[in-house]
Amino acid sequence: MKLLEGKTALVTGGSRGIGAAIARAFAENGASVAFTYVSSAEKANAVADELSQLGVNAKAYQSDASSYEQSENLIKDVLEEFGQIDILVNNAGITRDNLMLRMSEEQWDKVIQTNLKSTFNLTKHVLRPMMKNRGGSIINISSVVGVFGNAGQANYAASKAGMIGFSKSIAKEVGSRNIRCNAIAPGFIETEMTEELDDKTKEGYLTNIPMKRLGKGEEIAGACVFLASDLGAYVTGQVLSVCGGLNT
Ligand code: NAP
Repeated sequence: MKLLEGKTALVTGGSRGIGAAIARAFAENGASVAFTYVSSAEKANAVADELSQLGVNAKAYQSDASSYEQSENLIKDVLEEFGQIDILVNNAGITRDNLMLRMSEEQWDKVIQTNLKSTFNLTKHVLRPMMKNRGGSIINISSVVGVFGNAGQANYAASKAGMIGFSKSIAKEVGSRNIRCNAIAPGFIETEMTEELDDKTKEGYLTNIPMKRLGKGEEIAGACVFLASDLGAYVTGQVLSVCGGLNT
């Protein structure tokens, strides 16, 4: 029996990067997978096809996680199609880096809305169905930057630190209902998000990473499988750093 057989997962931002790796790992472990994207329709459809070929039910939804209304409709649509949601991964996220003196209100608002408000939007609408289902696992993809901060990323670090406080609070609210909520704090992972960094910045990070390499999406996905499955059945309210030792 596969670790996630009989379970349905919803992953926000699954068209590429870490989200696509999580969707893949869930499908490989037998879960049905619904995932979202905003603009990469072609990539999203390719991921959905790939997951279906693994023999699970998989579907891509165009849905902006920062929109309360779209998130509410998304949960309704997924429940209609899949019947239940056992696992929610709040993965959708963006950066709009700038030093505080230069950061615009738009850069601040966009990052907080996409990374933090989205986590509220999806969690808010998935909790009732999870309660009805007598269990669930919510995984919020935060960042090590939310733990120790980063110059030039005050908006991003604040959103990711917010996700940690949110996760711990939800764990305390619904633990008695057998719903777990944890955060994962990835270090520097090879995706389009980190491709934007210049070589000098990357070198600087590598110096401080004990494992001397960037991480891979699959390595975040492995931690998600642990927290989503019964392997993590007694783990809630925690922040799991997956960062090659950077946060040590
Ligand atoms: P990425 O390669 O840029 O992919 C971002 C994904 O999120 C895409 O699927 C994108 O969809 C989706 N997305 C963006 N805005 C959205 C919205 N409003 N609603 C729904 N989906 C949205 O990013 P990544 O590197 O995989 O990062 C994934 C998560 O891990 C983020 O929360 C990020 O902050 C976190 N993280 C990443 C790193 C890293 O080193 N890469 C480190 C720590 C934490 P489209 O394709 O349609 O744009």
